[in-house]
Amino acid sequence: MNKKIYMDYAGTTYLKKQVFEEMIPYFKEEFYNPSSMCNEASKVKMAIDESRKIIANFIGAKREEIFFTSGGTESDNFAIKGIALKNKNKGMHIITSKIEHHAVLNTCEDLVKNGFEVTYIPVDKKGIIDLNALKSSIQKDTILVSVMMANNEIGTIQPIREIGRICRKKGILFHTDAVQALGHIKIDVEDMNIDLLTMSAHKIYGPKGIGALYIRKGTKIENIIYGGPQERGKRGGTENPPAIVGFGKAVSLLKEKRMEKDINKIKRLRNRLLEGLKEIPKIKLNGVESENRLDNNINISFENVDGELLLMMLFSKGICVSSGSVCSAGSSNPSHVLLALGSDKKLAKATVRFTLGDRNTEEEIDYVIKSVWEIVNILRK
Ligand SMILES: *Cc1c(COP(=O)(O)O)cnc(C)c1O
Repeated sequence: MNKKIYMDYAGTTYLKKQVFEEMIPYFKEEFYNPSSMCNEASKVKMAIDESRKIIANFIGAKREEIFFTSGGTESDNFAIKGIALKNKNKGMHIITSKIEHHAVLNTCEDLVKNGFEVTYIPVDKKGIIDLNALKSSIQKDTILVSVMMANNEIGTIQPIREIGRICRKKGILFHTDAVQALGHIKIDVEDMNIDLLTMSAHKIYGPKGIGALYIRKGTKIENIIYGGPQERGKRGGTENPPAIVGFGKAVSLLKEKRMEKDINKIKRLRNRLLEGLKEIPKIKLNGVESENRLDNNINISFENVDGELLLMMLFSKGICVSSGSVCSAGSSNPSHVLLALGSDKKLAKATVRFTLGDRNTEEEIDYVIKSVWEIVNILRK
C-alpha cells in the first residue's frame, strides 16, 4: 500500500469540499469589510450573522452569546484571562484539571505569575475528574472552574453536567474547552450549566485559524484583544468572513444527521482497530474502555518499545499518527496527561494516539493493525 493513511484527526482534519466552496465567494467578489457602510458589505455581514446563528443553535446558545476568535487557543485565553482579570476583586483563585490542553494550562501559569492561585484537580487512573476533589478545592475566593469536555489525548469525556451543577450552586463561573467534543457529543450549554465554551473549526473539517467562545449573556469579561468595535466590542480586529462562513458550514454539516451516521461508522472502525491492537501482548489502553470515550480515539502504550522509533517506523509505512499529543511531538517530554493517569515516564513515551475520521476505511484499519504488530515485534527483538 503506497497511500498515506491519516489517523491524526484530533490534531486537525482536512477541509471538507462543501465547506471550501462556501468560503470561496468571500475571498473573491464578497471581499467587503463587514463594518463598511456601503451596501455591498451587507451580504458579508449577513453571512457572518448566519454562521453565528448556526453555531449558537448547535450548542443551545443565543446568537449574541457567540464571539468569533482566531481559534481554540485564543478562546481558551479569552475565557480564562478575561474572567480572571474582570473578577480579581472578587477573588483570585481558579480551579482546573491536570489534563487540560496547553492553551488552558499555560494561560493559568501566566495568571499564577501575576498573583492568581490555581488548583489543578487530579484525575483517576482512567482520566476522569475527581468530583470530590473539585468540591473540596472550592474556596471563598474561587472565581472560575475550567475543565475540558473531552480530552485531546486519551479521549475521556468528563461529567460536565455535574461539574456545571456544582459550580452553579456555588456561584462560580464554569468554562469548558469543547474543541474535541464538538461534533462528537451533544452539547447544550443550558442543560450542562456552562458559562463559557471554547470551539475551533479545524477539528471539525472546517478551516484553521477560526474559533469561537460562547459567553453566557450577562457574564462580565475583560477583553483580551483590544481594537475596533467588532464582536460587540469584545474582540477587536476585522472579521475573517471566509473562515467564519466555513466554520458555520462545517457546523451545519455536523447537524445534518451526519453526526450520528459518521459517528457510528467511525466507532465501528475504531473498535475494529482496537480489537486488533489489543491482541498485542504487553500493551495498555490509556483512558476508559468505551463509554465516556470519544468515538474516534485510541491511545495505547507499548511496553519494552522505543516510542520514538515506533512512531518513525509508522511514518515510514505512510501511517500518520501522533505520540499522544501534537504539542509534545518533537520534544521528548512525556505527556502530562499520561503522567496524571499515573503512567511511568518510560511507558508514557512509548505511546501512540490513533484518531480516526470520516475518510478512514476498513482496509486502512487492517493495514495499520498489521503494521503495528510487525513494528512492535521488530522493536522488541
Ligand atoms: C486543538 C485544541 C485546541 C487549540 O485549538 P486551535 O484552534 O488549534 O488553537 C484547544 N483545546 C483542545 C482540547 C484542542 O484539541
